[in-house]
Formats: sequence, structure tokens, C-alpha cells
Amino acid sequence: MSGKLLRIGFIGGGKMAQAMAKGFISAGLAKGETIIGSCHPSDLASLQAFKDLGAESITENIPVVEKSEVVIVSVKPHIVPIALGDLKNSGIDAGKLFLSVAMGVTTCQLEQLLPKEARVIRVMPNTPALVQSGASVFVKGTAATDNDANITRKLLQSIGTCEEVMEPWMDAVTALSGSGPAYVYIFIEALADGGVKMGLPRDLAYRLAAQTVMGAGKMVRDTKQHPGVLKDDVTSPGGSTATGLHFLEERGLRSAVIGAIEAATERCKEVA
Ligand code: NAD
Repeated sequence: MSGKLLRIGFIGGGKMAQAMAKGFISAGLAKGETIIGSCHPSDLASLQAFKDLGAESITENIPVVEKSEVVIVSVKPHIVPIALGDLKNSGIDAGKLFLSVAMGVTTCQLEQLLPKEARVIRVMPNTPALVQSGASVFVKGTAATDNDANITRKLLQSIGTCEEVMEPWMDAVTALSGSGPAYVYIFIEALADGGVKMGLPRDLAYRLAAQTVMGAGKMVRDTKQHPGVLKDDVTSPGGSTATGLHFLEERGLRSAVIGAIEAATERCKEVA
């Protein structure tokens, strides 16, 4: 890519597309004017959100492919066959890199839906991409090249971390890092509710809870210490943390979280 701005198209301009587009712009990989997004005609809010980024915002999918070097398929999974259906017999040059973020839609299914010259990479990002703290993984389709993988890595690293994985892991990745922010949000809300119950002002409680979750995540990531070791470090004998941990273990926090990842993974398989 050598510093050149990429022309990036989004088929589907909703929450995930907007998070990624904002991240690419903030990271300097694209500008509003090098981005185009298509939405359902009824989705006025997303059409406006793309305009607000300085991007082109339309209601047809073929021009998105025509005008882009990289096309990001970011419609809901059940819409993927409808949105890509327009392309197959349109006669347009689809010899582009297609990244799909659609949950549960495999590289094989994408390759069957797209014209045969398309090169496919399946991605699972998450919405903290909006603040350049996303966790993304990708799987290369059969025709994707090493250069395509490098472009994908560069795009995804501009909005957080990025790792190449094996396709059979994608449902578990979706359950962990794709859905994970939602689980962490309710944990943050619960931490803050606990603080409020014990007399803290709500705004202070949210700030402390969010910073605590972020700091603990950074400790695990940056020190590379086992989370159990870090937990032991903050747990003094007979102290308040040990009492709090006992309560969480009694109420089955670990088991509930493990069960949530298992249930969400199974749900991904059903949706696919
Ligand atoms: P969303 O509902 O916010 O956005 C979907 C977009 O598709 C809307 O802009 C809608 O106008 C557009 N659309 C509908 N029909 C269309 C059509 N025929 N042609 C073109 N555009 C059309 O959904 P989202 O949360 O952004 O999810 C999009 C994809 O991202 C999904 O496949 C989801 O699995 C994946 N994903 C989402 C998250 C997340 O946290 N939201 C995380 C990882 C992956």
C-alpha cells in the first residue's frame, strides 16, 4: 500500500461499517472521499452517518464494487446472499479483495456467492474498532494472496489488533471477541451499580469501572502474566478482595462466562 490512500467500499453501512470507516480515517489509511458505503434505502441514519464522514453514501451495491479496491461486506448474515446476488451476473470487474465481517458466513459460501475472480478474506472484528482498540481475526479464502493478507492486516491493525486464524475457530472467536464487548459492558454496569449501592456518585462509578476493566485488560496483555498470578497479586490474606472473589465464585461468575461463550458459539453454528 506504500502510503497510498485505499479506495474502500462498504456493502452495508451500519454500526460495524461505521466503526471501521472511522478507524481507517483516524489511522490515516483512508479519507472520507476515498470511502463509499451502500445501505438499505430505509436506513436514513446510516446513509447520513457516511455523509458525515465525508464519504459517498448510496443505496446500490454495484457502484461500491466498481469504485473500490477493497470491498467490505458488512450487512447482516442473512442479507449477504441478497446483497451479493446483485453482483454475480452484473458483468462488473469483481477482481477485487472482498473482506466479509458477516458472522457465520464461511469463505466457501462467500466464494460461491461472488463472481469467480473475487478474492475473499473472512474477518471477525469487534466494535471497539471505533476507538482503535478492536480485536480482529481473519481467514484467507482460496484465491486470496499474501498481499491481500498484508492489506487486511494493515487495515485491521489500524483499528486494533489482528491475527490470522483457522476457519473452524471462527464461531468461538465470534462468541469471545465479537460478542465479548457486550458481556464486558454489563460487567462494567454491574461494577458501577455496586459502587452506587455503596454510596458512590454514578458518574464517578462508571469512570472507575471502565478504567478498571481497561487497566486490568492492559495488565494481562502487556505484562503477559497469567491472569491468576495478577489476581493473586491484588488479593491480600483476609482482605476485602478475597471476600469479594469468594462471593463471585459462590455465584458462579466463571461458570456463567464459560457457559455464555459456549452458548454463543452454538448459536453462531445455528445461524450459519
Ligand atoms: P447493522 O444493522 O448496524 O448494519 C447493517 C447495514 O446493512 C445497514 O446499514 C443496512 O442499511 C444495510 N443493508 C441492509 N440491506 C442491504 C442491502 N441489500 N444492500 C446493502 N446494504 C444493506 O449491523 P452491524 O451490527 O453493523 O452488523 C453488520 C455485520 O457485521 C453483521 O454481519 C455482523 O455479523 C458483523 N459484525 C458485527 C459486530 C457488532 O458488534 N455489531 C461485530 C462483529 C461482526
